[in-house]
Amino acid sequence: MDPSTKVVIIGGGVMGAATASFLGSRFGIQATVLERDASYARASSALSVCAIRQQFSTEINIRISQQSLAFYREIGRLLAVGNDRPNIGLVEPGYLYLATDAGAQVLTENQALQTRCGAVVALLSPAELGERFPWLSTEQIAVGSLGLSSPMSGEGWFDGYSALQAFRQHAIAQGARFVEAEAVDFDTHAGAVRSVITQQGERIAADAVVIAAGAWSSPLAAALGVDLPVRARKRDVFALQASGPLPGCPLVIDPSGFWFRPDGNTGQFLCGSPPRSADLDDVPLEQVDRGLFDEWLWPRLAERVPQFDALRVTGAWAGYYEYNTFDQNGLVGRLPGTDNVFVAAGFSGHGLQQAPAVGLGMAELIATGGYQSLDLSPLHLERLSDNAPLLERNII
Ligand SMILES: Cc1cc2nc3c(=O)[nH]c(=O)nc-3n(C[C@H](O)[C@H](O)[C@H](O)COP(=O)(O)OP(=O)(O)OC[C@H]3O[C@@H](n4cnc5c(N)ncnc54)[C@H](O)[C@@H]3O)c2cc1C
Repeated sequence: MDPSTKVVIIGGGVMGAATASFLGSRFGIQATVLERDASYARASSALSVCAIRQQFSTEINIRISQQSLAFYREIGRLLAVGNDRPNIGLVEPGYLYLATDAGAQVLTENQALQTRCGAVVALLSPAELGERFPWLSTEQIAVGSLGLSSPMSGEGWFDGYSALQAFRQHAIAQGARFVEAEAVDFDTHAGAVRSVITQQGERIAADAVVIAAGAWSSPLAAALGVDLPVRARKRDVFALQASGPLPGCPLVIDPSGFWFRPDGNTGQFLCGSPPRSADLDDVPLEQVDRGLFDEWLWPRLAERVPQFDALRVTGAWAGYYEYNTFDQNGLVGRLPGTDNVFVAAGFSGHGLQQAPAVGLGMAELIATGGYQSLDLSPLHLERLSDNAPLLERNII
């Protein structure tokens, strides 16, 4: 594709910014990124828990995370702008999935697939768990799976807002233009979009368009006649101060659905779970369900980690999962029925860790017509009309 090609990306979150960065660095294409809120106040990328793991149940998600982890480990060098080397504070204390008898077989099957894909994930008995993590109650636990790649576990967390800004600054250094504007409609001709229309009525000419608008992607696809099953589903996160740190604590996922992880090493933790009631669309982010912690999470946290019997909630926030109601996996590729519109949305709680691989794949697809480094075609959008869900069992 000619470097003068006009690529318009709608949404300047981590997906849009990563796509713009790779379009510039790999193909010399200077994209225009429409981002309606440069403060990113409601963007998922700024409200995330920012963890990365290899423990998925589908090969494509494992491969994406492996490629993305390699990128994030080197992000300071790969996205340096002049002498400015971004630091996203990546740490790798691992992920620990716990299962009761009911979930043990699935965990074991997942571990076998992860091992075939080259991830080092160990299955640990309750006795082994107790030895490694003396602060953990193994009551009702049949088995745990723990990332143990060497020298680092291959699983951990980082600062998502810094990753977003690193991609954004790098994209701008490659010539991308971030414009504060909201896309509302399109001019189309013979199956192709010719321009993107903004709220202010401006028309921005486009040879190719990327819908990377996170939880707000489906109205844009609807304007092109496609029902994209991506909805804004609120997730609450609670910040805790415990009486002290838990040595070697990874990100722990309990069989009942809650998770917790350290936030630094002075006894602060983050925790959360899916909502207590039906998972409704567009619940305002201001409505953090405080009762979720007091009535549901805390008792379970204290059962799993007796030390959590005494703790203090120091803060709480909510963000939207850009939730794919069809199969909870990213929708990546060409928008069916259009010639020049692409989508990267619907990552349902695992998009931040997938941004490097998806951003690169998206840039390759736009610039060359196909994937060059990692084949992302299992995430294609035709699976919607084929009614062929890509089922990922490890959704948090
Ligand atoms: C509480 C929480 C915890 C999470 N934990 C993890 C985790 O541990 N690991 C992980 O990998 N992922 C996690 N995620 C998911 C991850 O944050 C998202 O998958 C990722 O940030 C999605 O990036 P995005 O760029 O697609 O969307 P966003 O970051 O939401 O960016 C989309 C942007 O598009 C803009 N926009 C929308 N509509 C328009 C329009 N019409 N015109 C112009 N601009 C528009 C918005 O303003 C927004 O800035 C979590 C998410 C939440 C909410």
